[in-house]
Amino acid sequence: MSNQGTLFVISGPSGVGKGTICQELLKEKDALSLALSVSATTRAPRTTDIDGVSYFFKSTEEFKQMIEEGAFLEWATYNGNYYGTPIAPVQKTLNQGKHVILEIEVKGALQVMENYPSSVCIFIAPPDERTLYTRLTGRGTESEEEIQKRIAAARWELEQMDKYTYTVVNDVLDDAVQEIKSIIQKRSVQS
Ligand code: ADP
Ligand code: 5GP
Repeated sequence: MSNQGTLFVISGPSGVGKGTICQELLKEKDALSLALSVSATTRAPRTTDIDGVSYFFKSTEEFKQMIEEGAFLEWATYNGNYYGTPIAPVQKTLNQGKHVILEIEVKGALQVMENYPSSVCIFIAPPDERTLYTRLTGRGTESEEEIQKRIAAARWELEQMDKYTYTVVNDVLDDAVQEIKSIIQKRSVQS
C-alpha cells in the first residue's frame, strides 16, 4: 500500500489571508504531518522576507533556466514577476508520507488541478472585496499602485472559485483555520 502524502493547494487572491492561514497550520505541522513548500520567485524581497524561508529569490535568468530544466511542478507570472513551486522537494516530502501545502496564486492552482488530479485544492475567499482591499492596505507591504494591480487580478481570480473542490471564507481567522484543518484531516486519509 502506498504511503504517499497528499498535495494540498491553498490559493486565492493576494491579501485574502493565505500566508496567515498557512502560518497557523504550520504551528501544528507535526500533528497534521505536513510541510509547506517554499516557492521560487523573481519579485524583490520585502524587508520581512528571508531567502530560503519565505521564498528562494531568483533573477529572471535563473528562473527561466529552472523552467527549461523542468524544475517546477507549476509556475506562473503574477503582476510582472515569476513564481513557481520547485518540484524536487515536494516529491521528496510526499514520498516520505508527509502532506505538502502549496500556497500559490490561481493560475498555478489551475495547473495543479489539471496535472495532479489527486491534489486537494482549497480556495480562500474574502468576506467581500472591500475587506480584501483593507487587508492589502493594512499589510503595508505594497505601494498603492501594486495594491490596485492585485485587486484587478483578484476579480478574475474570484471568478475561478467554482473550479476548486473547497472554498473557505476567511472572515474570522480561527474559524477558517479550523475549517481547513478539518479538510486536511478528512482528505489525508481518503487520498
Ligand atoms: P495573502 O498571503 O493571501 O496575500 P496575508 O496572509 O498576508 O494574505 O494577509 C493579508 C493581511 O490580512 C495581513 O495583514 C493579515 O494579518 C490580515 N489577515 C489575514 N486573515 C485575516 C482575518 N481573518 N481577519 C483580519 N485580518 C486578517
Ligand atoms: P507575494 O508577492 O504576495 O508574495 O505573492 C503574490 C502571489 O503569488 C500570491 O498569491 C502567492 O500565493 C503567489 N505565489 C507564491 N508562490 C507561488 C508559486 O510557487 N506559484 C504560484 N503560481 N504562485 C505563487
